Amino acid sequence: MLTDQQILRIPGPSPIPPSVSRAMTQPMIGHRGQSTSEMLADIRPKLKRVFGTAQEVLILTASGTAGLEAAVVNAVAPDDEVLVIVSGAFGERFADICRTYNIQTHIIETEWGKAATVSGITGALEAHPNIKAVFMTYCETSTGVLNPVEKLAAEIRGKSEAMIIVDGVSCVGGVETKMDEWGLDIVVSGSQKAFMLPAGLAFIGVSERAWNKIEANLQPRFYLDLKKHRDNLIKDTTPFTPALSLLFGLQKTLELMEEEGLGTVYARHELLMKMTRAAFKALGVPLLTVDEDASPTVTAVKPADFEAEVLRNVLKEEFAMEVAGGQKVLANKIFRIGHMGYCSPADLLQAIAAIEIAIVKAGREIELGSGVRAAQQEYLKGANR
Ligand SMILES: *Cc1c(COP(=O)(O)O)cnc(C)c1O
Repeated sequence: MLTDQQILRIPGPSPIPPSVSRAMTQPMIGHRGQSTSEMLADIRPKLKRVFGTAQEVLILTASGTAGLEAAVVNAVAPDDEVLVIVSGAFGERFADICRTYNIQTHIIETEWGKAATVSGITGALEAHPNIKAVFMTYCETSTGVLNPVEKLAAEIRGKSEAMIIVDGVSCVGGVETKMDEWGLDIVVSGSQKAFMLPAGLAFIGVSERAWNKIEANLQPRFYLDLKKHRDNLIKDTTPFTPALSLLFGLQKTLELMEEEGLGTVYARHELLMKMTRAAFKALGVPLLTVDEDASPTVTAVKPADFEAEVLRNVLKEEFAMEVAGGQKVLANKIFRIGHMGYCSPADLLQAIAAIEIAIVKAGREIELGSGVRAAQQEYLKGANR
Protein backbone atom coordinates (compact mmCIF):
# COMPACT_ATOMS: atom_id res chain seq x y z
CA MET A 1 0.00 0.00 0.00
CA LEU A 2 1.24 3.51 -0.74
CA THR A 3 1.90 4.92 2.69
CA ASP A 4 1.00 8.49 1.81
CA GLN A 5 -2.19 7.74 -0.10
CA GLN A 6 -5.55 8.44 1.50
CA ILE A 7 -8.76 7.84 -0.35
CA LEU A 8 -11.49 9.68 1.51
CA ARG A 9 -14.96 8.47 0.63
CA ILE A 10 -16.65 9.62 3.81
CA PRO A 11 -19.37 12.28 3.95
CA GLY A 12 -16.96 14.92 5.16
CA PRO A 13 -14.26 15.92 5.47
CA SER A 14 -14.02 15.41 1.73
CA PRO A 15 -11.00 15.51 -0.60
CA ILE A 16 -9.45 18.84 -1.52
CA PRO A 17 -8.52 19.76 -5.10
CA PRO A 18 -4.75 20.31 -5.57
CA SER A 19 -5.30 23.87 -6.81
CA VAL A 20 -7.23 24.61 -3.62
CA SER A 21 -4.48 23.12 -1.44
CA ARG A 22 -1.99 25.34 -3.24
CA ALA A 23 -4.19 28.41 -2.80
CA MET A 24 -4.30 27.76 0.94
CA THR A 25 -0.51 27.88 1.25
CA GLN A 26 -0.32 31.52 0.15
CA PRO A 27 1.69 33.69 2.55
CA MET A 28 -0.38 35.22 5.33
CA ILE A 29 -1.85 38.67 4.81
CA GLY A 30 -3.30 41.27 7.14
CA HIS A 31 -7.00 40.82 7.66
CA ARG A 32 -7.66 44.58 7.65
CA GLY A 33 -5.82 45.13 4.38
CA GLN A 34 -6.96 45.74 0.84
CA SER A 35 -6.23 42.17 -0.32
CA THR A 36 -8.61 40.68 2.22
CA SER A 37 -11.36 43.10 1.21
CA GLU A 38 -10.85 42.30 -2.44
CA MET A 39 -10.99 38.60 -1.69
CA LEU A 40 -14.25 38.96 0.26
CA ALA A 41 -15.72 41.13 -2.50
CA ASP A 42 -14.97 38.32 -4.95
CA ILE A 43 -16.34 35.57 -2.68
CA ARG A 44 -19.64 37.22 -1.67
CA PRO A 45 -21.61 37.11 -4.95
CA LYS A 46 -20.38 33.60 -5.76
CA LEU A 47 -21.45 32.25 -2.39
CA LYS A 48 -24.88 33.84 -2.83
CA ARG A 49 -25.33 32.01 -6.13
CA VAL A 50 -24.57 28.67 -4.47
CA PHE A 51 -27.21 29.38 -1.80
CA GLY A 52 -29.71 30.71 -4.33
CA THR A 53 -30.15 33.99 -2.51
CA ALA A 54 -29.80 37.70 -3.09
CA GLN A 55 -29.14 38.10 0.65
CA GLU A 56 -25.71 38.12 2.23
CA VAL A 57 -24.26 34.69 3.10
CA LEU A 58 -22.23 35.13 6.27
CA ILE A 59 -18.90 33.40 6.76
CA LEU A 60 -17.92 32.40 10.29
CA THR A 61 -14.65 30.83 11.36
CA ALA A 62 -16.27 27.81 12.96
CA SER A 63 -17.38 24.26 12.23
CA GLY A 64 -20.83 23.57 10.83
CA THR A 65 -22.32 22.97 14.27
CA ALA A 66 -21.48 26.54 15.32
CA GLY A 67 -23.47 27.62 12.26
CA LEU A 68 -26.42 25.61 13.56
CA GLU A 69 -26.02 27.11 17.02
CA ALA A 70 -25.79 30.60 15.51
CA ALA A 71 -29.09 29.98 13.73
CA VAL A 72 -30.70 29.01 17.04
CA VAL A 73 -29.37 31.85 19.20
CA ASN A 74 -30.06 34.51 16.60
CA ALA A 75 -33.45 33.48 15.28
CA VAL A 76 -35.13 31.98 18.33
CA ALA A 77 -36.13 34.01 21.39
CA PRO A 78 -35.90 32.44 24.85
CA ASP A 79 -39.66 31.86 25.18
CA ASP A 80 -40.30 30.67 21.65
CA GLU A 81 -41.77 27.31 20.78
CA VAL A 82 -40.05 25.49 17.94
CA LEU A 83 -40.48 22.36 15.89
CA VAL A 84 -37.58 20.17 14.83
CA ILE A 85 -38.02 17.66 12.05
CA VAL A 86 -35.74 14.78 12.96
CA SER A 87 -34.82 12.18 10.39
CA GLY A 88 -31.43 11.18 11.77
CA ALA A 89 -28.45 12.21 13.89
CA PHE A 90 -28.16 15.77 12.58
CA GLY A 91 -31.84 16.51 13.14
CA GLU A 92 -31.27 15.31 16.71
CA ARG A 93 -28.36 17.71 17.00
CA PHE A 94 -30.58 20.67 16.06
CA ALA A 95 -33.06 19.58 18.74
CA ASP A 96 -30.22 19.22 21.29
CA ILE A 97 -29.02 22.75 20.58
CA CYS A 98 -32.54 24.12 21.05
CA ARG A 99 -32.96 22.28 24.34
CA THR A 100 -29.59 23.54 25.52
CA TYR A 101 -31.03 27.06 25.32
CA ASN A 102 -34.19 25.94 27.17
CA ILE A 103 -36.30 26.55 24.11
CA GLN A 104 -39.62 24.70 24.09
CA THR A 105 -38.82 22.06 21.53
CA HIS A 106 -41.33 19.85 19.75
CA ILE A 107 -40.07 17.00 17.63
CA ILE A 108 -41.47 15.05 14.75
CA GLU A 109 -39.33 12.07 13.99
CA THR A 110 -39.35 9.95 10.87
CA GLU A 111 -37.87 6.50 10.79
CA TRP A 112 -34.12 6.80 10.14
CA GLY A 113 -33.54 6.13 6.45
CA LYS A 114 -36.80 7.76 5.34
CA ALA A 115 -37.45 11.34 4.29
CA ALA A 116 -39.65 13.71 6.29
CA THR A 117 -43.18 14.06 4.92
CA VAL A 118 -45.44 17.04 4.40
CA SER A 119 -48.33 15.33 6.18
CA GLY A 120 -46.25 14.90 9.35
CA ILE A 121 -45.61 18.63 9.44
CA THR A 122 -49.20 19.64 8.82
CA GLY A 123 -50.30 17.76 11.93
CA ALA A 124 -47.54 19.20 14.10
CA LEU A 125 -48.26 22.79 13.03
CA GLU A 126 -51.97 22.34 13.76
CA ALA A 127 -51.25 20.80 17.17
CA HIS A 128 -48.83 23.60 18.12
CA PRO A 129 -50.05 26.87 16.59
CA ASN A 130 -47.43 28.95 18.45
CA ILE A 131 -44.45 27.46 16.73
CA LYS A 132 -42.06 30.28 15.77
CA ALA A 133 -39.44 28.30 13.88
CA VAL A 134 -39.20 24.96 12.13
CA PHE A 135 -35.80 23.29 11.87
CA MET A 136 -34.97 20.71 9.26
CA THR A 137 -32.01 18.92 7.73
CA TYR A 138 -31.60 19.12 3.95
CA CYS A 139 -29.29 16.16 3.51
CA GLU A 140 -29.43 13.95 6.62
CA THR A 141 -25.85 12.75 6.46
CA SER A 142 -26.39 9.91 8.93
CA THR A 143 -28.84 8.14 6.61
CA GLY A 144 -28.12 9.52 3.12
CA VAL A 145 -31.60 11.03 2.85
CA LEU A 146 -32.28 14.26 1.00
CA ASN A 147 -35.32 15.78 2.66
CA PRO A 148 -37.82 17.51 0.33
CA VAL A 149 -37.01 20.96 1.68
CA GLU A 150 -38.86 22.84 -1.04
CA LYS A 151 -42.13 20.98 -0.41
CA LEU A 152 -41.79 21.09 3.36
CA ALA A 153 -41.12 24.82 3.23
CA ALA A 154 -44.16 25.44 0.99
CA GLU A 155 -46.35 23.60 3.49
CA ILE A 156 -44.97 25.56 6.44
CA ARG A 157 -45.30 28.88 4.59
CA GLY A 158 -48.92 28.05 3.77
CA LYS A 159 -49.81 27.12 7.33
CA SER A 160 -47.87 29.48 9.58
CA GLU A 161 -45.52 32.40 10.01
CA ALA A 162 -42.82 30.16 11.46
CA MET A 163 -39.29 30.68 10.28
CA ILE A 164 -37.76 27.90 8.24
CA ILE A 165 -34.24 27.01 9.29
CA VAL A 166 -32.28 24.47 7.28
CA ASP A 167 -29.11 22.51 7.97
CA GLY A 168 -27.59 22.18 4.52
CA VAL A 169 -24.08 21.35 5.72
CA SER A 170 -23.67 18.13 3.75
CA CYS A 171 -25.25 19.14 0.47
CA VAL A 172 -25.26 22.88 -0.29
CA GLY A 173 -22.71 23.22 -3.08
CA GLY A 174 -23.50 19.74 -4.41
CA VAL A 175 -27.27 19.94 -4.63
CA GLU A 176 -29.34 22.82 -5.99
CA THR A 177 -30.45 25.16 -3.22
CA LYS A 178 -32.88 27.98 -3.94
CA MET A 179 -33.08 29.74 -0.64
CA ASP A 180 -35.11 32.76 -1.83
CA GLU A 181 -37.43 30.93 -4.22
CA TRP A 182 -38.27 28.20 -1.68
CA GLY A 183 -38.82 30.74 1.11
CA LEU A 184 -36.09 29.46 3.45
CA ASP A 185 -35.13 31.86 6.24
CA ILE A 186 -31.79 30.51 7.37
CA VAL A 187 -29.61 28.02 5.53
CA VAL A 188 -26.42 26.79 7.16
CA SER A 189 -23.54 25.04 5.45
CA GLY A 190 -19.94 24.21 6.20
CA SER A 191 -16.65 24.11 4.35
CA GLN A 192 -15.61 20.44 4.62
CA LYS A 193 -18.39 18.78 2.64
CA ALA A 194 -19.48 19.80 -0.87
CA PHE A 195 -17.36 22.98 -0.71
CA MET A 196 -14.13 20.95 -1.11
CA LEU A 197 -12.29 22.65 1.77
CA PRO A 198 -10.99 21.62 5.17
CA ALA A 199 -13.32 22.11 8.14
CA GLY A 200 -13.33 25.56 9.70
CA LEU A 201 -15.85 27.77 7.92
CA ALA A 202 -19.58 27.94 8.54
CA PHE A 203 -21.76 29.64 5.92
CA ILE A 204 -25.09 31.14 6.93
CA GLY A 205 -27.65 32.58 4.54
CA VAL A 206 -30.28 34.77 6.22
CA SER A 207 -33.57 36.02 4.75
CA GLU A 208 -34.98 39.51 5.24
CA ARG A 209 -37.75 38.07 7.42
CA ALA A 210 -35.15 36.38 9.61
CA TRP A 211 -33.19 39.64 9.96
CA ASN A 212 -36.28 41.33 11.39
CA LYS A 213 -36.56 38.60 13.99
CA ILE A 214 -32.82 38.65 14.71
CA GLU A 215 -32.77 42.42 15.26
CA ALA A 216 -35.57 42.13 17.81
CA ASN A 217 -34.26 39.02 19.55
CA LEU A 218 -32.93 39.52 23.10
CA GLN A 219 -31.21 36.14 23.33
CA PRO A 220 -27.59 36.91 24.35
CA ARG A 221 -24.80 36.09 21.91
CA PHE A 222 -21.39 37.54 21.17
CA TYR A 223 -19.17 35.83 18.59
CA LEU A 224 -22.26 34.20 17.14
CA ASP A 225 -24.14 37.51 16.79
CA LEU A 226 -24.96 37.44 13.09
CA LYS A 227 -25.58 41.20 12.94
CA LYS A 228 -21.88 41.84 13.62
CA HIS A 229 -20.93 39.48 10.81
CA ARG A 230 -23.40 41.03 8.37
CA ASP A 231 -22.52 44.64 9.17
CA ASN A 232 -18.88 43.87 8.49
CA LEU A 233 -19.32 41.58 5.50
CA ILE A 234 -21.29 44.16 3.55
CA LYS A 235 -18.19 46.35 3.92
CA ASP A 236 -16.00 43.47 2.72
CA THR A 237 -14.53 42.82 6.12
CA THR A 238 -15.07 40.62 9.19
CA PRO A 239 -15.71 41.47 12.87
CA PHE A 240 -12.86 39.21 14.06
CA THR A 241 -9.79 37.66 12.45
CA PRO A 242 -11.03 35.27 9.77
CA ALA A 243 -9.39 31.97 8.83
CA LEU A 244 -7.56 33.63 5.95
CA SER A 245 -6.04 30.40 4.58
CA LEU A 246 -9.50 28.90 4.32
CA LEU A 247 -10.71 32.06 2.59
CA PHE A 248 -7.90 31.71 0.03
CA GLY A 249 -9.19 28.18 -0.50
CA LEU A 250 -12.83 29.27 -0.63
CA GLN A 251 -12.09 31.83 -3.30
CA LYS A 252 -10.50 29.06 -5.35
CA THR A 253 -13.25 26.43 -4.81
CA LEU A 254 -15.94 28.93 -5.77
CA GLU A 255 -13.96 29.74 -8.89
CA LEU A 256 -13.72 26.00 -9.71
CA MET A 257 -17.45 25.56 -9.18
CA GLU A 258 -18.23 28.46 -11.49
CA GLU A 259 -15.82 27.18 -14.13
CA GLU A 260 -17.51 23.79 -14.09
CA GLY A 261 -20.89 25.53 -13.96
CA LEU A 262 -23.19 25.12 -10.95
CA GLY A 263 -25.72 23.18 -13.05
CA THR A 264 -22.97 20.78 -14.11
CA VAL A 265 -21.76 20.41 -10.52
CA TYR A 266 -25.27 19.39 -9.44
CA ALA A 267 -25.67 17.03 -12.41
CA ARG A 268 -22.34 15.40 -11.54
CA HIS A 269 -23.55 14.71 -7.99
CA GLU A 270 -26.81 13.23 -9.37
CA LEU A 271 -24.80 10.96 -11.63
CA LEU A 272 -22.53 9.85 -8.78
CA MET A 273 -25.61 8.96 -6.74
CA LYS A 274 -27.12 6.99 -9.60
CA MET A 275 -23.88 5.13 -10.30
CA THR A 276 -23.48 4.19 -6.63
CA ARG A 277 -27.04 3.00 -6.27
CA ALA A 278 -26.93 1.00 -9.52
CA ALA A 279 -23.77 -0.75 -8.29
CA PHE A 280 -25.26 -1.98 -5.01
CA LYS A 281 -28.51 -2.98 -6.66
CA ALA A 282 -26.55 -5.11 -9.14
CA LEU A 283 -24.52 -6.62 -6.30
CA GLY A 284 -27.68 -7.46 -4.37
CA VAL A 285 -26.55 -5.47 -1.34
CA PRO A 286 -29.46 -3.43 0.10
CA LEU A 287 -29.47 0.36 0.19
CA LEU A 288 -30.84 2.08 3.30
CA THR A 289 -33.03 4.53 1.40
CA VAL A 290 -35.41 4.31 -1.55
CA ASP A 291 -34.41 6.12 -4.77
CA GLU A 292 -36.88 8.98 -4.22
CA ASP A 293 -35.34 9.86 -0.84
CA ALA A 294 -31.69 9.47 -1.80
CA SER A 295 -29.12 12.24 -1.49
CA PRO A 296 -26.74 13.04 -4.36
CA THR A 297 -23.92 13.57 -1.84
CA VAL A 298 -23.88 10.43 0.34
CA THR A 299 -25.19 6.87 -0.01
CA ALA A 300 -25.92 4.56 2.93
CA VAL A 301 -25.68 0.81 2.36
CA LYS A 302 -27.23 -1.71 4.76
CA PRO A 303 -25.70 -5.13 4.21
CA ALA A 304 -27.92 -8.05 5.21
CA ASP A 305 -25.38 -10.86 5.24
CA PHE A 306 -21.98 -9.42 6.10
CA GLU A 307 -20.60 -6.99 8.65
CA ALA A 308 -20.30 -3.36 7.58
CA GLU A 309 -17.40 -2.95 9.99
CA VAL A 310 -15.43 -5.82 8.42
CA LEU A 311 -15.83 -4.20 5.01
CA ARG A 312 -14.68 -0.86 6.39
CA ASN A 313 -11.59 -2.43 7.90
CA VAL A 314 -10.62 -4.19 4.66
CA LEU A 315 -10.95 -0.94 2.72
CA LYS A 316 -8.87 0.91 5.28
CA GLU A 317 -6.16 -1.72 5.70
CA GLU A 318 -5.75 -2.76 2.09
CA PHE A 319 -6.64 0.31 0.07
CA ALA A 320 -6.24 3.22 2.52
CA MET A 321 -9.83 3.96 1.59
CA GLU A 322 -12.23 5.27 4.18
CA VAL A 323 -15.97 4.90 4.06
CA ALA A 324 -18.03 5.94 7.08
CA GLY A 325 -19.90 3.69 9.48
CA GLY A 326 -23.34 4.21 10.97
CA GLN A 327 -24.15 6.65 13.78
CA LYS A 328 -26.25 6.05 16.90
CA VAL A 329 -29.04 3.51 16.17
CA LEU A 330 -27.40 2.67 12.84
CA ALA A 331 -23.96 1.95 14.36
CA ASN A 332 -22.51 -1.29 12.90
CA LYS A 333 -25.56 -1.64 10.68
CA ILE A 334 -24.66 0.48 7.67
CA PHE A 335 -21.72 1.96 5.85
CA ARG A 336 -21.85 5.30 4.07
CA ILE A 337 -20.05 6.39 0.93
CA GLY A 338 -19.43 10.09 0.53
CA HIS A 339 -19.50 11.31 -3.07
CA MET A 340 -19.58 15.04 -2.53
CA GLY A 341 -17.38 17.88 -3.67
CA TYR A 342 -14.14 16.79 -5.30
CA CYS A 343 -15.39 13.41 -6.53
CA SER A 344 -15.57 12.30 -10.16
CA PRO A 345 -17.19 9.29 -11.85
CA ALA A 346 -13.66 7.84 -12.16
CA ASP A 347 -13.16 8.18 -8.38
CA LEU A 348 -16.42 6.38 -7.82
CA LEU A 349 -15.56 3.50 -10.15
CA GLN A 350 -12.36 3.06 -8.15
CA ALA A 351 -14.31 3.02 -4.89
CA ILE A 352 -16.85 0.50 -6.13
CA ALA A 353 -14.12 -1.81 -7.45
CA ALA A 354 -12.36 -1.77 -4.06
CA ILE A 355 -15.66 -2.20 -2.20
CA GLU A 356 -16.41 -5.32 -4.26
CA ILE A 357 -13.16 -6.86 -3.04
CA ALA A 358 -14.00 -5.88 0.53
CA ILE A 359 -17.46 -7.46 0.20
CA VAL A 360 -15.84 -10.75 -0.84
CA LYS A 361 -13.37 -10.52 2.04
CA ALA A 362 -16.27 -9.83 4.41
CA GLY A 363 -17.58 -13.26 3.43
CA ARG A 364 -20.29 -12.52 0.90
CA GLU A 365 -20.24 -14.15 -2.52
CA ILE A 366 -20.71 -11.78 -5.42
CA GLU A 367 -19.86 -11.72 -9.09
CA LEU A 368 -16.81 -9.48 -9.15
CA GLY A 369 -17.26 -6.58 -11.52
CA SER A 370 -21.04 -6.62 -11.54
CA GLY A 371 -21.28 -3.47 -9.43
CA VAL A 372 -18.65 -1.69 -11.46
CA ARG A 373 -20.41 -2.72 -14.67
CA ALA A 374 -23.75 -1.38 -13.47
CA ALA A 375 -22.10 1.91 -12.52
CA GLN A 376 -20.40 2.08 -15.92
CA GLN A 377 -23.73 1.51 -17.64
CA GLU A 378 -25.30 4.24 -15.52
CA TYR A 379 -22.45 6.53 -16.50
CA LEU A 380 -22.98 5.82 -20.21
CA LYS A 381 -26.72 6.46 -19.86
CA GLY A 382 -26.16 9.80 -18.24
CA ALA A 383 -23.04 10.69 -20.11
CA ASN A 384 -24.14 12.41 -23.28
CA ARG A 385 -22.28 15.28 -21.74
C1 LIG B 1 -21.11 17.56 8.98
C2 LIG B 1 -22.44 18.05 9.34
C3 LIG B 1 -22.65 19.07 10.29
C4 LIG B 1 -21.59 19.86 10.97
O1 LIG B 1 -20.60 19.22 11.55
P1 LIG B 1 -19.29 19.94 12.11
O2 LIG B 1 -18.52 18.75 12.54
O3 LIG B 1 -19.69 20.81 13.22
O4 LIG B 1 -18.68 20.70 10.98
C5 LIG B 1 -23.94 19.51 10.51
N1 LIG B 1 -24.97 18.99 9.86
C6 LIG B 1 -24.83 18.02 8.93
C7 LIG B 1 -26.03 17.54 8.21
C8 LIG B 1 -23.56 17.52 8.65
O5 LIG B 1 -23.42 16.57 7.72
